[in-house]
Amino acid sequence: MHQLTLAEIARGLADKKFSSEELTKVLLARIAQLDPQLNSFISLTEDLALSQAKAADARRANGESGALLGAPIAHKDLFCTQGIRTSCGSKMLDNFKAPYDATVVAKLAAAGAVTLGKTNMDEFAMGSANESSYYGAVKNPWNLDCVPGGSSGGSAAAVAARLLPAATGTDTGGSIRQPAALTNLTGLKPTYGRVSRWGMIAYASSLDQGGPLARTAEDCAILLQGMAGFDPNDSTSIDEPVPDYSAGLNGSLQGLRIGVPKEYFSAGLDPRIAELIHNSVKALEKLGAVIKEISLPNMQHAIPAYYVIAPAEASSNLSRFDGVRFGYRCENPVNLIDLYKRSRGEGFGPEVQRRIMVGAYALSAGYYDAYYLKAQKIRRLIKNDFMAAFNEVDIILGPTTPNPAWKLGAKNSDPVAAYLEDVYTITANLAGLPGLSMPAGFVDGLPVGVQLLAPYFQEGRLLNVAHQYQLHTDWHTRTPTGF
Ligand code: GLN
Repeated sequence: MHQLTLAEIARGLADKKFSSEELTKVLLARIAQLDPQLNSFISLTEDLALSQAKAADARRANGESGALLGAPIAHKDLFCTQGIRTSCGSKMLDNFKAPYDATVVAKLAAAGAVTLGKTNMDEFAMGSANESSYYGAVKNPWNLDCVPGGSSGGSAAAVAARLLPAATGTDTGGSIRQPAALTNLTGLKPTYGRVSRWGMIAYASSLDQGGPLARTAEDCAILLQGMAGFDPNDSTSIDEPVPDYSAGLNGSLQGLRIGVPKEYFSAGLDPRIAELIHNSVKALEKLGAVIKEISLPNMQHAIPAYYVIAPAEASSNLSRFDGVRFGYRCENPVNLIDLYKRSRGEGFGPEVQRRIMVGAYALSAGYYDAYYLKAQKIRRLIKNDFMAAFNEVDIILGPTTPNPAWKLGAKNSDPVAAYLEDVYTITANLAGLPGLSMPAGFVDGLPVGVQLLAPYFQEGRLLNVAHQYQLHTDWHTRTPTGF
């Protein structure tokens, strides 16, 4: 039963082949048995899951239907869940029980999804390896000595290991697409504003966006359908109708114009990944797509710009964790300054502290113009590059990551080496565009992802292309040994 996709589960539940309660019990037992190897969950919510499963079964018995009714999922542990620990992977929030549900959590619960637990993540979503979590590193099911990617690494490892069919993630600079690539999943970062950020603990508010991680594009369509839509509680949420993503999966790719940026194939890209990307281009050409070389001339400036803007916003967002209102408080503070200093010094891990310092520096008087303002200008140039490219093509295709998963600890002493892994993903966040990563093959037994980017609000186009590709390839069906 653990091999079933969301789409297959929906059919099985509708045909009464099994109940949501049965399925939930099987998956909870599987998590108890296998997750100790992976560390993909921070909290399990067995009681909630069983009561939600029973409620979903009762709703089906009353004639209700719906693709998510009774479907088991999990949430990255930065989506607030009422009465349940929402840690953000940090000691700072180890004792924090959210007083309300994030909009995404509430919407999925209303659709009948069953929450099995909260997944591990890089502390405050800062990272590309899922090694900065207060709860320990997550292991990649394809090789337990390797990282699963980050920061939604717990969601990715759990879905890849068939502990559950799908999970939510968030993507500020690649944190859905990069772990999807490194664990052989399909993951989608929606257009900025497509999915509500209300109740999603902020890292960099102008870049953060929630989205689905699953094994297929078909399942991403189902989960995104449950997550997307206008939310008056999020002033950056956009009041645009949400199309029927599942209904759009079968469009023909005949004549689809795919742009391949020449800058993507530079020295930093593992040549074996480049070859797999060329293979996926050929596969899409066979389905009728037309390939065109394009240019994104400002791409080289994306990493420096992102690593100014994201820490700047983080330094402001994380100022609320002061030991006063909620979260970690140091023992026996002697005065208010001591309370702030030690609560933050003891509650935040080293990567979070590094980003707060970089961000505060970039925003400080005298440096604001030189760093923050300049980074914002680069951000506009990157957006303009994409706008020009989308005048000529419908989709942009390239690698999701320059390398496959690396060994645990390999990049710990060199933060910049880890930042460079984000080179292909962060431009979509800087421009606010939707992006998807899907399986494209293997290098040394480790999965490789191909990334598709589309114009604003064209999530449906990404899912359509990925679904057609998955009907004609079988990379996404491969299962890691031992799971
Ligand atoms: N790796 C990037 C960072 O550390 C992206 C993280 C994310 O998307 N949350 O900022």
